[in-house]
Amino acid sequence: MSTPQAGLGASISPAVVKVLKAHIREVPDFPKPGILFYDITTLLKNGPALAQLIDTLAEHYRSQRIDLVAGIEARGFIFGPALALRLGAGFVPIRKPRKLPAPTVAVEYALEYGTDRLELHRDAITRGQRVLIVDDLIATGGTALASAQLVEQLKGTVAGFAFIVELTFLAGRQRLASYNVTSLLAYDV
Ligand code: AMP
Repeated sequence: MSTPQAGLGASISPAVVKVLKAHIREVPDFPKPGILFYDITTLLKNGPALAQLIDTLAEHYRSQRIDLVAGIEARGFIFGPALALRLGAGFVPIRKPRKLPAPTVAVEYALEYGTDRLELHRDAITRGQRVLIVDDLIATGGTALASAQLVEQLKGTVAGFAFIVELTFLAGRQRLASYNVTSLLAYDV
């Protein structure tokens, strides 16, 4: 079992870390052998824990102007709209290939084996809008970096990133060094 710590960049008490941690299910060997999967569905189904999650993330970005929350498919879609609502922002989806119906911009990025691709509607963001990018978890940071590139292709400004879980031993944060990055629960092994 890995060790949950307070997240990086968010002001979150050890008591809240403990509550949120207790609601995240760790699933060994999913989706393939050797991967410890951090399942947030067990947190989302608990009303008080969900409220705590959204309140803590919203508190961190409340003092900034956030025009849009951009959620990364698929788990960024589950809590991104709730965060957007709290911040008085809109929500836009960053999707896997060929899911969006209207013209898109796209970014390809490297995986351990091969490449993957993310897309965003061309009219999702207008020049100068401040965008908070959200996902459930940051591992190597490749998905998050590709998402930032999509926002910037449309001349949006990446106001920051918000993650529930950060796997610090994979150093994804270093790939996002020029951005404001917040996570709630950091795991160091
Ligand atoms: P990365 O691009 O390496 O930062 O991977 C982040 C993406 O992969 C996010 O969309 C996560 O939902 C997913 N992911 C990677 N590793 C895990 C894990 N151990 N548990 C749950 N989701 C993961």
